Amino acid sequence: MLRMIYSGEWLMHLWLIGFVASAIVIAFSTGFLRAHKIQPRGFKWKQLGFEALVAVIGGYVTAFILGNANRLLTSYGFIAFDNAPVAWWRAAIEYAAYFFLFDTWFYWLHRGMHKEPFYSLIHKIHHKSTSPNLLTTVSVNPLESVINGGFVPIFLTVMTLVGHPVGAVAAALILPTNIVMGLYVHAGFEFLPRWWHKSWATKWFITSTFHDQHHKFFNWNFGGYTTIWDRICGTTRAKFETDYDKICDRRAEWWRKLFARKPSSALSPVNAIADAEAM
Ligand SMILES: [Zn+2]
Ligand SMILES: [Zn+2]
Repeated sequence: MLRMIYSGEWLMHLWLIGFVASAIVIAFSTGFLRAHKIQPRGFKWKQLGFEALVAVIGGYVTAFILGNANRLLTSYGFIAFDNAPVAWWRAAIEYAAYFFLFDTWFYWLHRGMHKEPFYSLIHKIHHKSTSPNLLTTVSVNPLESVINGGFVPIFLTVMTLVGHPVGAVAAALILPTNIVMGLYVHAGFEFLPRWWHKSWATKWFITSTFHDQHHKFFNWNFGGYTTIWDRICGTTRAKFETDYDKICDRRAEWWRKLFARKPSSALSPVNAIADAEAM
């Protein structure tokens, strides 16, 4: 402890904690978070409690099943990685293959899980959350987590069996993608620009609002990483873009108010007196 104090390390930690705490307080008190929240009145303690319970139980079960499956497949040589240095474009192709194949896997299985009896048996737990937050990401029936998370070992196994084991760079990108994308789509806040769903280049990629609406309106917006299958199959919610624009409007209004400056005479008592005398 003393060594840490002498080295100045504690000051660094203190500064970091202070910085993060201040940022959170400012974000709350100025209304920044509320302005960027997709469902401003959506937070419920009861929902959060249920999510925490499912996350703990489901997390253990999923980690046990997927952890052992990965370990066994690797130890028997079904999953291998190419640790030799590879060209950037090969890593990009491997990652893109994973990204779009997983998106296809997720879309169709997700749509399937909205049909009975699969909905009641598997997917209903995740839909207890009507206004997603970060914890909603892991508030999932373990069976559903295994179905979704199981795509990674299947992909790595198939690549190994066809003689193209995934390179180390692509593997390092693929492994955390599911959890990062999960947190992103369940964030409950929208920070992406208004043009995101209008531009030909970006409208294919999901936003937090897109998946948030799946939780709120249920039978629309099934995509996990992209909006491609929803656009092809006509399952994008008709009012999705209108509501996305409304969130952008609310956000823009907050920024407009932040930068709106009152006339200097109103701010300065001296000028205010001078103004009054001149009248
Ligand atoms: Zn669903
Ligand atoms: Zn979800």
